[in-house]
Amino acid sequence: MAQALLGMELADLREVLGADQPGFRARQLYDALYRGRAADVSSITTLPRELKERLAAAHSVGLPQAAARYDSNDGTRRYLLGLDDGRTVETVLMPEGERYTVCISSQVGCPVNCRFCLTALMGLERNLTAGEIVGQVLFVLRDNSLHADVNTLNIVMMGQGEPLLNLDEVLKATRILTDKDGVGFAERRITVSTSGILPKIEELGRAAVRPKLAISLNASTEEQRRELMPITKKYHLADLIAMCRRYPLRSWEKLTFEYVLLAGVNDTDADARRVAKMLANIDCKVNLIALNPGPGIPYGTPTAERVSSFQAIVRRSVPCFVRKPRGRDVYAACGQLKRMESAGLVKIG
Ligand code: SAH
Ligand code: SF4
Repeated sequence: MAQALLGMELADLREVLGADQPGFRARQLYDALYRGRAADVSSITTLPRELKERLAAAHSVGLPQAAARYDSNDGTRRYLLGLDDGRTVETVLMPEGERYTVCISSQVGCPVNCRFCLTALMGLERNLTAGEIVGQVLFVLRDNSLHADVNTLNIVMMGQGEPLLNLDEVLKATRILTDKDGVGFAERRITVSTSGILPKIEELGRAAVRPKLAISLNASTEEQRRELMPITKKYHLADLIAMCRRYPLRSWEKLTFEYVLLAGVNDTDADARRVAKMLANIDCKVNLIALNPGPGIPYGTPTAERVSSFQAIVRRSVPCFVRKPRGRDVYAACGQLKRMESAGLVKIG
């Protein structure tokens, strides 16, 4: 199988081109891949033909292939993208006025067994490479004629997978996505969300270039979280909160806590009071997400009144917002990514 160029940093490309090439060639190639979003080696106009032929003999660009696109009636687009080994991964584009958010996956499936999440039912198929993570962004930007230096774009690593269980590739992808000579995203425009893998949160905090951190809280007590997110048996809620208190935030950064509300399970006023108390002295905000239902998920969605009441209580202590569900009709919403076929299929590519 041809080796993918996407995911390579400048030093990697220099090595691929070989010592006989002048130094600026690697830069030209880097520029064509990440700024020019080239789809294949032969279309890179800055490189001499002979070099392109040599390169193409053993390498491909490695952009994912479009398998399907599902357009929601709220403007959200869910993409099913084909990878080199025939597996597929999901990526979602959410327009909101002039702003766009690209939700990308970090793994095919997920090994963390959260009870309310459809992706959990897949188990882990495999980690994505840095090139496959970056490739999702480039693919969606190309397909929608968006540019990081023209449009207001955010990336959230909240698709399939637990990003911190694939931290090396996630960090490499982040370096490529934030390189101002490359894709050109600002660090503050990328957010990574985790179910709470403690040693990896610590490692993330030490990285020189890193996304903002969001924590999926989803429960107000240790016991409740163990029930909903069994990973809590290994990484306790109390330790997670302690780690959040000492996490090295940058001057412009706040932690985000996400809280999926499950009707009658973790959405009572008493839960809200416990959450408010737990987060009181942390520089953070809370995003509430009413459960997005799915087949095989044994929970219900709370009413809008319940959500508002929960929000009002948490707000007494920290900023708290309600996330609008996006693309539920095409299974593009949080926790619904499971390679689902559904209405609204638009063939592309
Ligand atoms: N694995 C990471 C990132 C992907 S999940 C994590 O868990 O943080 C992204 C968000 O979707 C998480 O906050 C998760 O709690 C939420 N989520 C999962 N299933 C959901 C569902 N059925 N409805 C609403 N949100 C859900
Ligand atoms: Fe994995 Fe996140 Fe879903 Fe939990 S909520 S199963 S960590 S994708």
